[in-house]
Amino acid sequence: MGPQGAGKGTQAARLADRLGVPAISTGDIFRANIKGGTDLGRLAQEYTAQGELVPDSVTNDMVRDRLAQADAAEGFILDGYPRNAAQVTELDEILAALGTRLDAVVELTAERDELLARLRNRAQVEGRDDDTEEAIARRLDIYAEQTAPLTTAYGERGLLVRVDGIGEIDEITARLTDALAPALG
Ligand code: AMP
Repeated sequence: MGPQGAGKGTQAARLADRLGVPAISTGDIFRANIKGGTDLGRLAQEYTAQGELVPDSVTNDMVRDRLAQADAAEGFILDGYPRNAAQVTELDEILAALGTRLDAVVELTAERDELLARLRNRAQVEGRDDDTEEAIARRLDIYAEQTAPLTTAYGERGLLVRVDGIGEIDEITARLTDALAPALG
């Protein structure tokens, strides 16, 4: 977990590489479908372009299907899911049905000013259609209102690992691996 621009995608990919498990990013799956012009992509685009969450029914089905695929059988890293309380409940059910559970929930932290600077920079480099000023502000607000509170629930379950997302990419990866070592045994 972590607000947009905290570096979730970058760190999830690095960690996945080290652990030999897939990094599953709901945002990436939506973007691939939008690019491919699928039905899911057409539906998702209305929401992603505005910085709104795609409806839970669509997102949850997509995650359930993805986690049931063979490459996730030995483990996975979720990036960008769950993002609201209903998705937390759904994820619990998906994992119970698969006979597995979360080892840890990582929260990458960063201040809003730093995030805005990174996202504006990414807008110039990558040209994502949801990196407009309006969509960026909306995504950060949704994170603060709906997603950040979920860390409390995971904290109460003893799963939360908080990592400072400010610094060099390598330095953050090192912090992350150290912080996760106890949970990953
Ligand atoms: P991201 O790349 O994680 O910032 O996701 C890009 C966009 O995809 C978000 O702004 C949402 O519109 C959509 N999205 C990604 N993950 C979710 C999710 N868990 N629930 C609903 N919408 C999502």
